[in-house]
Amino acid sequence: MISIDRPSRTADLGDVRVANRAAVLRHLRLHAPCSRADVAARTGLNKATVSSLVGELIEHGLLRETGLTENRVGRPATMLVLDGSRYAGLGLRIGADELVVVAVDLAGERVLTWRRAFATATAGPDETVAALAALARRAINRVTGAGRTVLGLTVGVPGPVDGDGVVPAAPALGWRNVPLAAALRRALRDPGFPIGVDTDANLAVSAELRHGPYAGTADLVHLTGGPTVGVVSGGRLLRGGRGFAGEIGHLPVLPDGPACGCGRRGCLAALVGVDAVVRRLLPDAAQDGPVTDHLPEIERIQALARAGDDPVRTGLTEVGRQLGRAVCVLVDLLDPEVVVLGGHLAALAPWLLPAVRAELADRTLTPPPVAQVEASTLGSEASALGGATAALATVEAGHLPAA
Ligand SMILES: [Zn+2]
Repeated sequence: MISIDRPSRTADLGDVRVANRAAVLRHLRLHAPCSRADVAARTGLNKATVSSLVGELIEHGLLRETGLTENRVGRPATMLVLDGSRYAGLGLRIGADELVVVAVDLAGERVLTWRRAFATATAGPDETVAALAALARRAINRVTGAGRTVLGLTVGVPGPVDGDGVVPAAPALGWRNVPLAAALRRALRDPGFPIGVDTDANLAVSAELRHGPYAGTADLVHLTGGPTVGVVSGGRLLRGGRGFAGEIGHLPVLPDGPACGCGRRGCLAALVGVDAVVRRLLPDAAQDGPVTDHLPEIERIQALARAGDDPVRTGLTEVGRQLGRAVCVLVDLLDPEVVVLGGHLAALAPWLLPAVRAELADRTLTPPPVAQVEASTLGSEASALGGATAALATVEAGHLPAA
């Protein structure tokens, strides 16, 4: 469940004007540049209301006039676009081996993307929060130094999150009951904007829904080989009753497969998770101790696959087949249009996808056409990007920034 630790401010949720502002912003996001008359025609709001809302949104730095005009019969119309210059949202991700921060402006442009290798499980929660806060502070300084105001910050973690921003269990990080939202707020000395925490899979699929090549697809699944799958169904994020939906990492795929951290064998995570893939394809990787940064190892696997290394190619086909079994379950259960592979699965997609697609075509019970399976183009920072986008949600929902 997403948890927003919001400074006290009266939320006029029932306000029609709030809803109308949101409608104008949404229209501009999807169709800009457009004129006030276009906005009125397409949103169903009357022209006077649109003029008043646009004036207010320009005044608050959420929209701007481009100076371009559209030639029509009668008066030329001034064109409007979202104004990215005044505000930004921050998204962070805590991975087992990295910390990532992304900032996005209101026009959807990435302002910055930074990654830092970090052994989270070894460091423990306190040190991780300190490192995360240091990274966030640098990003905040960069964003505010460029004249923007930070509207919010959302952190993605590989595990479920409760309504108070507490992470009850994230085995990939070695965490139990970590009050992340509160700890980060303290470490950032109450920065005056909302701090949210969400499961990284939810943020990653939200990023795909907004920024990826399949943006706007109503039924979308995002899979990384991590513990959770991100699901958008009917255009909405699927959270489940308590916000813990999507825990697919321990789906049994191979009854006598390799041992899994959960005590069973052949779970999906034990076959296609980043650790499992590195261990399987690079038997020498852990020679000098446990792998603390997977990125260089994944790059080595890519290089070997490109060079036609037989064991690596065969291994990747096998990983693809096992992943395909889980994709089948998801397709039969959720009937998505597109299944997006993220994280290391995206990096290795050229060698995984043929086997995943073949397995899906063989096994799925849903009538054709079979769901598309594609690699994410958003990179391993998809969930941080989703976090940055989530941090803008309050303003996109029509609430004016306090600044
Ligand atoms: Zn397991």
